[in-house]
Amino acid sequence: MVEKEEKKLTIEDLPGVGEATAEKLRENGYDDIMNLAVASPKDLSELSGIAEGAAIKIIAAARKSADIGNFETGEQILQRRKDVMKLTTGSKNLDELLGGGFETQSITEFFGEFGSGKTQIMHQAAVNATMSEEQGGFDCDVLIIDSENTFRPERIIQMSKGKDLDPDVVLKRIHVARAYNSHHQILLAEKAGDLAKEFPIRLMIVDSLTSHFRSEYMGRGSLSERQQLLNRHMHDLLRFGTVNNAVIAVTNQVSARPDVFFGDPMAPIGGNIVGHTATFRVYLRKGKAGKRIARLIDSPYLPEGETVIQLSENGILDGV
Ligand code: ADP
Ligand code: MG
Repeated sequence: MVEKEEKKLTIEDLPGVGEATAEKLRENGYDDIMNLAVASPKDLSELSGIAEGAAIKIIAAARKSADIGNFETGEQILQRRKDVMKLTTGSKNLDELLGGGFETQSITEFFGEFGSGKTQIMHQAAVNATMSEEQGGFDCDVLIIDSENTFRPERIIQMSKGKDLDPDVVLKRIHVARAYNSHHQILLAEKAGDLAKEFPIRLMIVDSLTSHFRSEYMGRGSLSERQQLLNRHMHDLLRFGTVNNAVIAVTNQVSARPDVFFGDPMAPIGGNIVGHTATFRVYLRKGKAGKRIARLIDSPYLPEGETVIQLSENGILDGV
């Protein structure tokens, strides 16, 4: 555990937050002081149905009492970085592209069109995480937030066999929650910490990160609200990754960019919020016969590059 124990104030400790208000706030995911401290008054008022004036006061009070004095020394950060571990993707090529595999305490995003292999890569990561450290795994449990209903235990069984693992053991270590809408998804990520107290979860998958947000917040008018919620959600994920020294792996779709007339006209959903919060971004393109081209787009310390992987019944392999 990386995070130190903090004395916990609840939202009821804030002036102006009685029982009824607290309940409204909790229902909408504002269940701790930090969430309130970083909320926008308009959001808070619209989502929780409290007057905007009251929302401003609550946020001000939350900012006052939130423990945001978390400056760390470079030495502390270096110590935390020493805990960073890498999880194999199943493909040496892809591991190399990522500097050794999926990194803990970071968000790794795979984006690409339908059928590009995002969900396959997530299934493989889940299987691999249960493997021993010598095999490139974490010997851990896995949490999957499934927003597109594409989790298939049958695929886990095939991929487990591909790794000579006992599928029953692997399946028991993978905890899957369907997310029915974006708020449900946000809530599941917030509650993930509870599950991590019960099981050693070192990999959290969100497949897909953006699809609910995309379909629920259509049009210019709701864009800023969508981005704020996505931002909060991603920071919850990152926090889980830091606290639990866990890998956060997410998928994202692409949409046609009307403003690009040459080059690749496909852009990931979620704009700057997703782009800036994901530490590693990998773009997947279809090749022939189960081959996929993976391109590293964005990383704080790795060069851009491309590699080829192979989707197979046994799972993710090197492409040749
Ligand atoms: P995305 O999540 O990006 O929409 P998927 O991860 O679902 O795409 O990828 C679907 C592709 O995965 C299929 O087109 C196929 O190439 C490959 N695939 C899925 N299941 C199998 C399997 N059992 N054996 C081999 N390839 C498979
Ligand atoms: Mg998918």
